[in-house]
Amino acid sequence: MTHSEEFYNRAKTIFPGGVSSPVRAFGAVGGVPPFIRSAKGCLLTDVDGNEYIDYVLSYGPHILGHGDPDVLDRLHAAIDRGISFGAPSEEELQLGEIIVSALPSVDRLRFVNSGTEATMSAIRLARGVTGRSKILKFEGAYHGHADSLLVKAGSGGATFGVPSSAGVPPEIARETLTLPYNDTEALKTLFSSEGDKIACAIIEPVSGNMGVVLPDDEFLRELRRLTEKYGALLIADEIMTGFRQTYGGAQILFSMEPDITTLGKIIGGGLPVGAYGASAKIMSQISPEGPVYQAGTLSGNSASMAAGLATIQKLKTPALYSQLEEQGRKLSQGLKEIISRLSLPATVNRMGSMMTVFFTPDPVTDWTSAARSDTALFRVFFHESLKQGVYLPPSQFEAFFLSTRHDDEVIRISIEKMSRALIACRNW
Ligand code: PMP
Repeated sequence: MTHSEEFYNRAKTIFPGGVSSPVRAFGAVGGVPPFIRSAKGCLLTDVDGNEYIDYVLSYGPHILGHGDPDVLDRLHAAIDRGISFGAPSEEELQLGEIIVSALPSVDRLRFVNSGTEATMSAIRLARGVTGRSKILKFEGAYHGHADSLLVKAGSGGATFGVPSSAGVPPEIARETLTLPYNDTEALKTLFSSEGDKIACAIIEPVSGNMGVVLPDDEFLRELRRLTEKYGALLIADEIMTGFRQTYGGAQILFSMEPDITTLGKIIGGGLPVGAYGASAKIMSQISPEGPVYQAGTLSGNSASMAAGLATIQKLKTPALYSQLEEQGRKLSQGLKEIISRLSLPATVNRMGSMMTVFFTPDPVTDWTSAARSDTALFRVFFHESLKQGVYLPPSQFEAFFLSTRHDDEVIRISIEKMSRALIACRNW
């Protein structure tokens, strides 16, 4: 028995599914998740000494790779001075200032401890500002696990067939309207009948939680136009996309101009974090200035702030995003060539350093088309890749992430290894 097997057997007796977050349990792909002992650059090492090229990167935060020396130095310096004060700190101020200067739509922000807290608070804020209760989200989008957002949700919700969770009271779920992503006509129809009841629409500018799905320009434009026309707020959930495709967020690339932005992952450099921000006027509604309450014991703790600050400061180099784009392009191009040579029914969607190989021959533009993927074939691809030493997200409906440590040599080796996995798919 391997050490991972032994640990997993023990973990299953004390954690639901043996894990602290559902997708990690390998429920969709089967098998035993390797227990990770250490990570450096783009490599993970498990408790049995196996090494993997990591395309999960803790589900996105490690854009500089694991254990970046500047991030570690700053983090060590911060924790040497104390861990969390329950009081304001300089790192928090500096990270706040840097985020505000990177996002034109954000004048002020509030730090929280996770993406879930950020979106949950952003929705409360939108409801507080508008005095309305209904919210709009898109099918297959995941915005964290707050009650009102677990309706037709992506990520683990989609993976485990529980897109609308048990335990969410029907009267709360009823306040969440859902539409297919990228369906401009459906948007127009919904707003014409319900527009004046909608507090906010929340959207992942590039969807990552049904796998990577790119937004249609016209759809984003129409969403902005209609929310504005009907007095609903637009929330850009950039927890995954923030500082991922460009410095700031995908909202800049798409000229989105949202009313509220949520952030997480990269801005904490791998430590727990979230944030929501908006114009000064909207943010003045938050306690202690305004009537919308939201608080957190560890919010803005100096360790998360220090790791986030070191990460964001390093990202302020345009060349770095061109490099990530180039490495993403090389990996997707390499995989596409093999898929085509093997005549596999697969489609690669990519935006910068986020991508998904969907096992369907047709374009994937929304949840319906993503859900047509052959998840049994994905399972073969996943396990063969793992056997070859490539660690992919263990679900068809998640994104691969690249870091600046995925250099040419790593991409070349990854393509070689994944080509063996694709051959196994053809022979399956
Ligand atoms: N929104 C988006 C777009 C996400 O990708 C995620 C997490 N993958 C969340 C919200 C929730 O963040 P967290 O897991 O930190 O609660």
